[in-house]
Formats: sequence, structure tokens, C-alpha cells
Amino acid sequence: MQCELCGKECGDRGRIAIVDGVQMLLCPSCIKYAQTVKQEEMPPVLKQRLLKRIHKTVKTKDIYEKMDKELIPDWHIVIRNARERKGFSREELGFRIGERTVTIAKIENGELRPSDEVARKLEKQLDIKLFEEVQKISISQNRGTTSQGFTLGDFIKKE
Ligand SMILES: [Zn+2]
Repeated sequence: MQCELCGKECGDRGRIAIVDGVQMLLCPSCIKYAQTVKQEEMPPVLKQRLLKRIHKTVKTKDIYEKMDKELIPDWHIVIRNARERKGFSREELGFRIGERTVTIAKIENGELRPSDEVARKLEKQLDIKLFEEVQKISISQNRGTTSQGFTLGDFIKKE
């Protein structure tokens, strides 16, 4: 493993430390260093690395949290159009996916949101896509910024 602060190879002696809310892997010498030295007192090279690292983590981890799949907004219209295009009656479509006709009617009217399982069957029978990938945006935590300086050792936790 590589120390994320100084970049030195530190084998398995690295420790996870939380530095200003960002999880970093630090080598033994940086951990020691972090416990005693404030950010302003760090050599500029290390300070720069630290800020770069914090910036990077905020960008990738907090803002773009994860991709998820959700039903497309106009699913009921897509289903109805696709069924008509295929020439299925509601009865026939219901039979094919194992649902009652009245259920199909409700789904097509938008009164009933199909379960994921039913939606997948509909996708298969009708050759349509009902799910889309959405990006969940999570609001970045307030980190309580560091113009006053902080002690790196404040949040050290040992594994
Ligand atoms: Zn180091």
C-alpha cells in the first residue's frame, strides 16, 4: 500500500485516518506527524497533496454517490403503446405475464405502479425498456472548513 499523503510505500503498516472528513491511508511516519502538526505547519508539498486529495474525494464520493434504476416517468404510456403495437389485447398480455386483465388496465391508466417483477415481465413480453439509470445526487456534508487550521490527529482512528 502507498501512503496517500507522502506517497511512500508503507506495506501493511499503513493506518486509516480521517483527515478533515476524508479517509486516507497514512504511513507510520505520517501518522506520527499528523498527530503533532497543524495543517499550516506542514511543508507546502504535503499540504498541497492533502488539499488535492480532499478535493478529489469530495468530487467523486459525496456528489455522485451511486447509480440506481428507476421506472421511466411515462411507463404506463409506453406499456399501452407497446401492447397495441404488438397487437395484444389486455387479456392476452395479462395471460402472458400472469396478471389479471383489470391489473393490466390499471397499469395502463397509471393507477397502479407495476412491481419490479411485473415490470421486468412486461419489458420482456413487449420488447420495451421500463427502467432507466438515475444518478442519485447526495448533498455533500458540511465539513466545517479549515481556515483556522486543524490538527490532523483529531480524527485518527486505528484499525
Ligand atoms: Zn506518509
